[in-house]
Amino acid sequence: MTDKPIIVWFRRDLRLGDNAALSAAVETGSPVLAVYILDDAAPGSWRAGAASRWWLHNSLEALDRSISALGGSLVLRRGASGDVLSALAKETKAEAVHCSRAYEPWAQRLEREVRDRLDAQGVGLRRFAGTLLHEPEQLTTQAGGPFKVYTPFWRALRSKVTVSKPLSAPTQLRAPAKLPKSERLQSWGLLPERPDWAGGMRDAWTPGEDGARARFLSFLGEAIANYTDERNRPDLEGTSRISPHLAFGEISPRQCWWAAEAAGARERKAAGGVETYLKELAWREFSAHLLHHRPDLPEVPFRSEFSGFPWRKSAAHLKAWKKGVTGYPIVDAGMRELWTTGWMHNRVRMIVASFLIKHLLLPWQEGEAWFWDTLVDADLANNAASWQWVAGSGADAAPYFRIFNPVRQGEKFDPEGEYVRRWVPELAGLPASVIHQPWQASAAVLEAAQVKIGSTYPAPIVAHAEARAAALGAFEAIKTQA
Ligand code: FAD
Repeated sequence: MTDKPIIVWFRRDLRLGDNAALSAAVETGSPVLAVYILDDAAPGSWRAGAASRWWLHNSLEALDRSISALGGSLVLRRGASGDVLSALAKETKAEAVHCSRAYEPWAQRLEREVRDRLDAQGVGLRRFAGTLLHEPEQLTTQAGGPFKVYTPFWRALRSKVTVSKPLSAPTQLRAPAKLPKSERLQSWGLLPERPDWAGGMRDAWTPGEDGARARFLSFLGEAIANYTDERNRPDLEGTSRISPHLAFGEISPRQCWWAAEAAGARERKAAGGVETYLKELAWREFSAHLLHHRPDLPEVPFRSEFSGFPWRKSAAHLKAWKKGVTGYPIVDAGMRELWTTGWMHNRVRMIVASFLIKHLLLPWQEGEAWFWDTLVDADLANNAASWQWVAGSGADAAPYFRIFNPVRQGEKFDPEGEYVRRWVPELAGLPASVIHQPWQASAAVLEAAQVKIGSTYPAPIVAHAEARAAALGAFEAIKTQA
């Protein structure tokens, strides 16, 4: 034990529980200096989007409260991580810097830069696992390469990776005798002000470790038992909604895995739902695995033949999609849910992404960028892999020629139209039989529901059958090029 502090560099691991970097620092008995650095090291378009910045502000407030309760304090600094850590290590005569490993291409570059800077000062950087269930180097195919297909990846993960037991949160923390100066969170301008568009997000979420725990515990009750049947239903609370908490590391995937397995062991009827849930957590692992092995995944089609895809350009169509005024109720409901709450149900994400790519023939990167800015759970690997999956250009993608019909999807997964009624209130008076295709309703039904197509609610911006034919034609064009 020395009086030289260990700096714990918090990143996307904004929690005390199951945080190996923090626990190892506390165990040494040395003073612990908790630091968060606002560093826009990510290349331009992948800087934290507006919704993520809102979440980050709130999550840092929560983390500061938790660290203060243990007797410490969270020091905030803005700047290049290497410069900040090097200066802090010098100022406090720190012995070492601990952090959780991150996997985005720029984050890995940053870790190398920071390590080299600190090495030159004789200060070690120790990186700890904890953001994923497995390390991407850990799983390989029999031929020794990275997995490109999910099912064998899942089998390998399930059989070869022992998910270690989550660590408990430290109960106290020895703070350095003298704390370096901290910047004020308010001065970082992470919250929207004029206008303040975050009201819907405040209503929907409680960022921070306590909020994450409470949300997950409530999911482990009834919902996980019904997960297999209900996870595709946006009208029900059938999924865990834990994604933003996972994205900011307020809960670890190991904690989710262990708690879900324990729920399955306690309650036999939940076992099927638990297994399906673990498979979804594994999709997150698979995406991280893909990004690790293909750092250009957010920009470049995984399947090279898609580089020549004849995308269209239409500012008007892109705007209608973003604002949720395409004339397809399930698409519009999803886009409005996203705008209001910063989140969208997975089934609806697939529908709106398919609509952008296949009905409007707009590049998937446009949708990916919009999601990046508006999602509170924006995650580079999940977002990029999912957009490529829908586009058909991804590693283990849905075939391009499978084109969702937004009307049928709505009828199947929102059978009573409740989801549409919630997010597209101007259609609330329509019966379930027409709510997913209001342009088919009779004049009397429209009048009774006070709906005027083209006035109170838009007519479809493209006709499904024509859009489908155009998409298949475009696909044929790249097939012949390949
Ligand atoms: P649950 O069903 O409760 O699943 C639990 C967890 O498993 C999720 O929180 C998530 O971490 C993981 N998971 C579930 N489904 C997937 C999936 N298909 N791919 C990867 N991980 C999954 N997820 C993000 O976290 N960030 C994104 O930026 C993101 N962008 C997406 C973009 C598109 C076009 C699509 C189709 C999906 C995207 N997803 C993204 C995946 C998925 O929609 C969300 O993870 C899920 O809706 C989160 O809700 P939940 O926590 O209730 O999920």
